[in-house]
Amino acid sequence: MKKVYLFKLKFNTPYGLRVGGPKEDISTLTPLKIGQHYVIPSSSWKGIFRRTTEVLITNPNHFRGHEGEDVTDDGSLDELLEAKGLENKNDENVRKERKRFIAMWNCPVERLYGSEYFASAVTFSDTLIDAEINQRTHVVIDRKTRKSEEKHLYSEQIVNVNSVRVKVIVRDRIDDWIKTLKFLSEFGTFVGGGKSRGIGYAVLDWKESEYAEVDGLTRKIMFKPLDELKL
Ligand SMILES: [Zn+2]
Repeated sequence: MKKVYLFKLKFNTPYGLRVGGPKEDISTLTPLKIGQHYVIPSSSWKGIFRRTTEVLITNPNHFRGHEGEDVTDDGSLDELLEAKGLENKNDENVRKERKRFIAMWNCPVERLYGSEYFASAVTFSDTLIDAEINQRTHVVIDRKTRKSEEKHLYSEQIVNVNSVRVKVIVRDRIDDWIKTLKFLSEFGTFVGGGKSRGIGYAVLDWKESEYAEVDGLTRKIMFKPLDELKL
């Protein structure tokens, strides 16, 4: 069995957060709730981490979808390419698609979070939150008259939570993953809506987050502080 890494990550969220739920009432922004818990779905975490890695790599080819990127097709990925029906190098369209596959395989973003050709190397848990709601009422000021209009009142529910946790399994590209974690611990990110008002600001708590290595020989999974992760 190939080695995989498990992470228990803690994010500090000093201003609370709201991952949007279904719109029940046009004048209230409500958080997503399943049963008794507010939720950050795994798909939201994946989007947050994917965007962070994209910021880090600043590769224009990535933002162009790796179309027409110049890569070496040296045969080292032939097995994977054949499995996708991309073995015929005499066909010009296949040649192009092989190059795009290889470029994506080389790119940390697609390798970590998946592409149309292969699955992601990272799996996130959902986060369930047990917390109270803060409801704030906002008044929209009419730009022309400068008067607040009663009709334009809306309220916003914010999940009053100081920190949230997510579990992650990482099967590949661990060095790119760690760079992403470092960035999130230094600069933070935003979870859910209300960004312009600071809501959802989330910083990875490096000291309070943990990892474990798992391979075929692991009997008992031991979580350790992130600082002990040597690559
Ligand atoms: Zn890419």
